[in-house]
Amino acid sequence: MDSKTLQQFKSKLEAERDSLLKAHGQHEQDLRASHTGEDIAGPDRAAELDDETVEAHIVESEERLLEKIAHALERIEEGSYGICEGCDAEIPLARLEAKPSVSLCIDCQEQKEAG
Ligand SMILES: [Zn+2]
Repeated sequence: MDSKTLQQFKSKLEAERDSLLKAHGQHEQDLRASHTGEDIAGPDRAAELDDETVEAHIVESEERLLEKIAHALERIEEGSYGICEGCDAEIPLARLEAKPSVSLCIDCQEQKEAG
């Protein structure tokens, strides 16, 4: 990959990370706020617990994505960005453009998901 393209992916990843960090901070605050909220009995409490579960799930998946982005940025520094970590093949540009934080080619991703 030429350095200009690499630079474009770096900016994309950094922008994604920044907006994710912002949203993530907000979600974490919401989660803490709902934990310290007053005890509500009955159906309201059940609804609130549901919200908490959804919120916790969002926070968790944001953390995973942040890790992936940090990893992709590291690989840009190392010069190994765009190379599949499973089979060392080049990941197609179209795939990287759709999801700049991927580190596996489609074949390896499918294998991983198949278990
Ligand atoms: Zn692969």
